[in-house]
Formats: sequence, C-alpha cells, structure tokens
Amino acid sequence: MDALQKNMALAEGYLGRYRDEITGHFINGLHVIPSDCAVFDNLTPVDNTSLGKVVSGTIEDVDAACESAARAFADWRDMPGAQRKKLLHCFADKLEERAEEIALVESMDCGQAVRFMRQAAVRGAANFRFFADKAPEARNGQALYQENHTNITRRTPIGPVGIITPWNTPFMLSTWKIAPALASGCTIVHKPAELAPLTAKILAEVSKAAGLPDGVWNMVNGYGEIVGKRLTEHPDIKAVAFVGESLTGTHIQTQAAPTLKRLHLELGGKNPVLVFEDADFERALDAVVFMIYSLNGQRCTSSSRLLVHNAIKDRFVAALIERIAKLKVGHPLDTETEIGPLIHKDHLEKVCGYTALAMADGARVAAGGETRSDLGPGNYMAPTLFTQASNDMRIAREEIFGPVLTCMGFDTEEQAISIANDSQYGLAAYAWTRDTGRAMRLAEKVETGMLWINSENNRNLPSPFGGVKMSGIGRDGGDFSFDFYMETKNVCIANDSHNVPGMGK
Ligand code: NAD
Repeated sequence: MDALQKNMALAEGYLGRYRDEITGHFINGLHVIPSDCAVFDNLTPVDNTSLGKVVSGTIEDVDAACESAARAFADWRDMPGAQRKKLLHCFADKLEERAEEIALVESMDCGQAVRFMRQAAVRGAANFRFFADKAPEARNGQALYQENHTNITRRTPIGPVGIITPWNTPFMLSTWKIAPALASGCTIVHKPAELAPLTAKILAEVSKAAGLPDGVWNMVNGYGEIVGKRLTEHPDIKAVAFVGESLTGTHIQTQAAPTLKRLHLELGGKNPVLVFEDADFERALDAVVFMIYSLNGQRCTSSSRLLVHNAIKDRFVAALIERIAKLKVGHPLDTETEIGPLIHKDHLEKVCGYTALAMADGARVAAGGETRSDLGPGNYMAPTLFTQASNDMRIAREEIFGPVLTCMGFDTEEQAISIANDSQYGLAAYAWTRDTGRAMRLAEKVETGMLWINSENNRNLPSPFGGVKMSGIGRDGGDFSFDFYMETKNVCIANDSHNVPGMGK
C-alpha cells in the first residue's frame, strides 16, 4: 500500500461518522441536531462527493447558543486564571492526541495538502498553550501616576463573543481566535464556514473532553447570511472576531452597528512581494514560490503580486517557470502533493476565469491558467503565472485566492513602493533586499499591517497580526488579543491631598 492509499484508508475511518450522522451544533455542552432541521451536503474538493450532511442553523439555534454563552459567562470570567490555564493546557493535550485525525479530516474537507496539515494540531495546541500561560496575568493593567492621584487600569473579559471563520485553513484560524478569547475569560459562539465545517466539530468535542464547563464553548453550523448574521446582531454578544472576505466584513460592520459591537476584522489581501536586484536570488525564489503556491494559494497572506526589479526580472521569471513546472498538483492526502484541489467548483471556475481576463487585458499566461481535469473530478488547477502585467489590470487588483501569481517589473525603489501601495488592500508585504537602509525605508513607506523582510510569512504569537485599508481592523497576537477580548477600566484613587471643589457652601 502506498502512502496515498494508506492515508485514504485512515481518512475513511475518521470520515465515516460524518457520513452516518448529521453534523449538528454544540450548545451548552451537548451535540444538538434540532428536529425537522434543514441540512446541506458538505462536499469534498477531492471529487465533489458528499462527506455527509450538516445542519443549516436557524436564528433560534443561534439564540440558544448565545444564551448558553451568556449563562456560562460569569462563572468562566470569575474562575481564577490559573484554573483556566490548566483547562486550556488540557485542551491542548487532547488536541495533540487527535493530530492524525485533524490533519486527514481537514485535508479532505478543505483540499489542503496533508504535508501542510500534518502540523495543524500541534500548532493549534501551541496557540492554546501560549494564551493559557498568559491567562493568570490577562487582567493586569498599568499604574499611572499623577501628583495627587494614582490611576490603576484593570482588564475584565468583555463578555460572550462571536467567532466567525472561513474555509481556507479553518482549524488553524479557529484556534487563533478562540484561544485568546477563552484565556481572557470570554465564552464563545463559533460559526464555522459552511464549506469546511468538520474540524469545528472536533474542536467542540475536545472542549468537552478537556472539561471546559458547559456553555463556555458553543458552535452553530449553517450559512453566513443566517447564522453569521444573527450572531453579529445578537444583543448578548459583545464582540465579534471575524476572518473572511472584505465584502463580508463590510456587511458585518452594518449588522453589528445597532448593538455597538466591538469588531476585529481580518479580511482579504493582494499582497506584494518586492524582489530587488540585490536580493539573495535563491532564497527569494523559494519564498516567492512558497508564498503563492502553498495552501493552494488560498491564503490571506499569499504574495499574489510579484514586483521584481527589471535588471533581474527575466532571469527570475525563467527560474520561476522552471519551478512551477515541477510543482506537484494532486490528491491532498498524497504526501508528495504540494497543491491540492480548490475548495469548490464555483471557486475553481472563478479562479480560472482570471486567465481570460488576463489575456483580454494584455498580460501573458507564462504558466498554467487552466484546470487539471486529467487529475479526475476534483477542483484541480495548474499553478499559474501571469507576466507582462500592469497594476491596473484586474489580475493585479483583485484577490484571486488561488495558485495564481501576477508578475510586474520596476526600475526604482520609489516605483516599487508606489505599485505596492496602489491597492485597496494592505494585509501583508514582503521584500527581498540586502540593503538595510532600504529595508528601513520600506518599513516606513509600505502601507501594510505586516512586512516581512527577507522572509516568507513567519508567525510569532506575541507579535501583532492584521491588516490596514480594506484588509481589516484590529490586531491579533499576544497582548493585542487581550486588548480586544477585554474591557479596560480605569480606577482613579486620590491621596486626599488635592482640593475638592466645594459648591453651595
Ligand atoms: P467569507 O467572507 O465568504 O466567509 C467567512 C465566514 O463568514 C463564513 O463562516 C461565512 O459563513 C460567514 N459569513 C458570510 N456572510 C456573513 C454575514 N453576512 N454575516 C456574518 N457572517 C457571514 O470568506 P471565505 O470565502 O470563507 O474565506 C476567504 C476569505 O477569507 C478571503 O478573502 C481571505 O483573504 C480571507 N482570509 C483572511 C485572513 C486574514 O487573517 N486576514 C485569513 C484567512 C482568510
């Protein structure tokens, strides 16, 4: 049996239960399948067959989950941080125990190659451990001195929060959001993406196995327009952390306005990678290939606009084409696979549609550009490179969210910065140069939430993660997360030496 067959057999073992039973909600510590509920088929990108039925949640289901989170809030908030820390470490242990299952189920559900999903549980557990360790000190504030007063700030968890996640790497993104929320002392209602909901069920099960009190973790499946919308409107939900498309982010702002919710929006990107003439050529090439073709290009921080100095452009593009030709597209459970199938047939059609747009606008299709139907009925696409592009073309302006790279040349640093900034988005940017002064100038001038110099996307949990412009509002990571999930209260104490104004004496 080869590695693919072995993984497929293992995956079948884990997936059977989703076929046999409807995947429902998790409310107040119980798995819930409402009677007479509507369901939808959850299709695998591997061949577009059903992995099983999922409950399409209703407003009543969301209300029940929000009420459960609201009831559980006071006890979870008041639990000593050290105890929350222990429970969240236990959660991380139990996540690691299910590492193989999480990797295989996630790969089949969202099409990401198993080579990138292998570490998902370990990294998810690391997110929980990082924030668990901070739970005992999450309430810490500052002491701010005045001549006659001392101001003390204290933080308290904001309340029950909504967590809305997308389909591209659903497991990992859910752990990023949920770990700091729980460590802060908030209870949660999680709304997973309808296109890849399976690992959300595993997360809910693990919360129970780890001994989290009932109602602390709730999860409701269904469509964004119903379940997501109600969650953002519910009066008991005090904040919403959302990861998804920019357009959906604008809807959420509108929906959440009447209840004045605090929002953290992590949205789309059209991230530039700037390769200067003095770059380490091979390392830059590795990073450029990795940051657009890994995770099927379905990655918010993918560097989808390549800006390369004209002095090295031809050589760089030729090397790129050679590497693209060797990328292995295939079944996500094949350990050799580097690019798996895209999430949905409609998404594949949308992504492939950019080839015609590129040609109509005068760009050249230097690699790929079409589906890989030779690989079977899955949503496979050939890794694609557009050259001779300019920044006003749709292939340079719109988030394609697939294995598609748009390449442009530049002559000067100013021109590179100007092209990089000429975008509605500002999530991530990457630059390759050996010139430290230039790196510092880029740090000042590139409009982005995150800039990596001489690196691909490297995540440091205490560092802020998030975007500017249409890429989002707010930051995740370390204390930035606690600031989002907690309210800061200022307590001002006098030392009885100041003059209190007397009136009506
Ligand atoms: P999406 O916006 O379509 O859906 C995301 C989630 O929002 C889903 O759970 C969906 O059901 C829900 N939703 C949809 N409409 C809603 C509404 N009106 N109210 C509340 N919830 C609603 O995004 P997607 O297609 O699932 O994911 C891809 C997008 O996510 C890309 O744009 C990508 O860049 C972005 N993304 C961003 C980051 C980041 O950190 N900035 C990370 C990963 C993905």
